[in-house]
Parts: sequence; structure tokens; C-alpha cells
Amino acid sequence: MSDPFELVRAEEMLRGYSARWFDEKLKVLAVEAEYDADLTNPESGAASRTFRLGGKIDAIVEDATGRVLNVEHKTSGEDVSAGSFYWRRLKINSQISGYLVGARALGFDPVETLYDVLGKPGQRPATTPLLDEWGMKIVLDGAGARVKTKDGKKHRETGDSALGYVLQTRPETVEEYRVRVREAICKEPDAYFVRGTVVRLQDEEKEASFDTWQTAASIREGRRLGRHPRNPDSCVRYGAPCSMFDVCTGEASVDDPTRYRRVVNMHEELSASKVGLPLLTNSEQGTYRACPRLHHYRYDLGIRAVVDSDNARFGSLCHVGLEQWWLGKKDGADEATCFGRAVAAMALPPPRHDVAPTTRKEVTL
Ligand code: SF4
Repeated sequence: MSDPFELVRAEEMLRGYSARWFDEKLKVLAVEAEYDADLTNPESGAASRTFRLGGKIDAIVEDATGRVLNVEHKTSGEDVSAGSFYWRRLKINSQISGYLVGARALGFDPVETLYDVLGKPGQRPATTPLLDEWGMKIVLDGAGARVKTKDGKKHRETGDSALGYVLQTRPETVEEYRVRVREAICKEPDAYFVRGTVVRLQDEEKEASFDTWQTAASIREGRRLGRHPRNPDSCVRYGAPCSMFDVCTGEASVDDPTRYRRVVNMHEELSASKVGLPLLTNSEQGTYRACPRLHHYRYDLGIRAVVDSDNARFGSLCHVGLEQWWLGKKDGADEATCFGRAVAAMALPPPRHDVAPTTRKEVTL
């Protein structure tokens, strides 16, 4: 069962999303479209004999003018308003370029990508003042007695740490938290739900394919040599320490089952490649670019942290809801049904991870 506050935060995001976008005239052609495509040498045009490109496109749609678009959902705590750095960065985003290749391998011909961003509400569970039978806040002094105002006519309603006056509070309930999050979203929906289309010109796609090809070559070379350099500049990303930090500093072991698990399928979200070559996904490339050692842990040894970071967990929860919402749209369901499907899916317990036997491969780091 997900944390009830986290669940409510995700539900309110999906509620606002559904109200904001349900009437958009988009025909849903595919949801969670998994592809397995050639990794092509951009100079010779030959297919790699080492890797296939793999991934899952959130959705593929046709707009009112008949144009086909890839859709990519993202949750973000950054400023996602139009013109912000968030959008400027997409010009060189590798996933957008890679997924165009993936959609073509599935027989679609997308002209651009609809980037579908959900801003994460920043509200956290808080405390709320305790009220007396007349609806007044309660402030007690160090002896536990109710404090009065200076003129002695009323009870004081604000604390003062210097004087030892403490405002009495209780934890906010889940439903109070829901109301607070909903109010924040309703106040400025455009800050929470932003969509924009991203175009790739031919030369931009070509440059991206060189990036991918070269990343693949570097991964292959690192495996051949058994060398996986660390990148200490990446030990803190997205405001959190790397999941392998304690291993890299010698304070934890990858064999500690309370901290780490092992997977057999390196891309847990994907099926195996049809032609038997290892798949290279966008997130694997991103991991390699961030830190070859982290890539080695994740994609050579199959090591994953037992507990996901807060950001990753919340992103996955929203993704589960969005998948069901879009499947509902594809099935022609009405808005209430789409939203209901999203909420029901998010309320299910998160999938249990299989823990593979920890037979350790001997490797040179
Ligand atoms: S795996 Fe890389 S990013 Fe992670 S802690 Fe080690 S050096 Fe830092």
C-alpha cells in the first residue's frame, strides 16, 4: 500500500490533469508502446551487432489535423512554465529523438512529440492548530496552562518560543491534506499542467543518433576492458544521493539484501529483444552518461536499491495512473471512468520485486 498522503497527492494531480486535458481532440493510437528497433550506425547505415534500441513510448496519438505525435508524460518539481529552462533543455533531449526511431519501428510516423508535463504539488503533510469548543486556537505556557492576551480579556492564539508559549497542534488528516493540495492546483492550473510540442529537424536527429552510437560504443568498450570509471560529480542528482553511494565509499555491500536486490532482466519494464541482442534504452544511456560505475552496477550486475527514492516512487505512481487514464481514452470511456481507472490503479499495492539469487559476478572495476 502506498503512503496515503502520497496517494492523495497523486490522485489530486490526476484529477486536475483529467479536468484540464480530457476534452483535447486527440485520437489515441497506442499506449505504453514497446519497441525493439535497430541501433543504426549513422555513418554507414548498418545495424549494430551488439545492441538493439528498446523502450516504451507513453502514448502515440493523432491530432485533429491528422498528424501523428509521440506523447511523453513527465512529473516535475521544476519551473515548467512556458519558456523556462525545462523546455529549452528539450532541444537536445535524447529520449525525444530515440522515441521517434522507436515509433517508426512500430509502423507509425510521428512528426513531433507532445511533451505532457505535470508539475508536482509542493505541499507536504503538515500540522494543524487544535481548536477549543469555541473554535479558538489553544496556546499553553510551560506549566501547561492556557495563555491569555496581555489585557487578560481573551485567550492568546499565537505561540512565542521566547516566552515558552506553545501553539497546540495535531497532524493534518489525509482529507485535510487533499483539500490543501486541490486548492493549490485549482488556484493556478497552468503551473501544474503544461503541454508543448517538440520538433526534431533532420540534422538534430542525425546528431542524436551519433550520440547514441558513441554511447553504445563506450559501453561496449568498458565491458571489453572490464573498466567502469566512477564519476563523483554525479553522486548527488535530483537533490538526492546516488543509491550506490555507500557502496562506492565502502560503507555498504551490494550483497546486503536489506539495501540491494538483483534483477535478471536488466530492463524490468520491457520484454526481451526479439532478436536476442541486449536492449539499450534511453534510461540506460542516461545512466552511463551520468556515471559508468553506476551503469555497471545497474546494467551489468543487475543491482537495484530495495527502496526507491521518493521522487522515483512518486513518478512511478503517477505513471501507473496516467497509463490507465490513457487506456480509458483509447477505449472511448468518459472522463469519470478514465479518472476512476487511474485512481483504482494507483491504489493497488506497488508490484513486488523479485529478488534474484545473489550470485556475484567477478568483475574488474
Ligand atoms: S556509482 Fe557513480 S554516481 Fe553513484 S556514488 Fe558511485 S561514483 Fe557516485
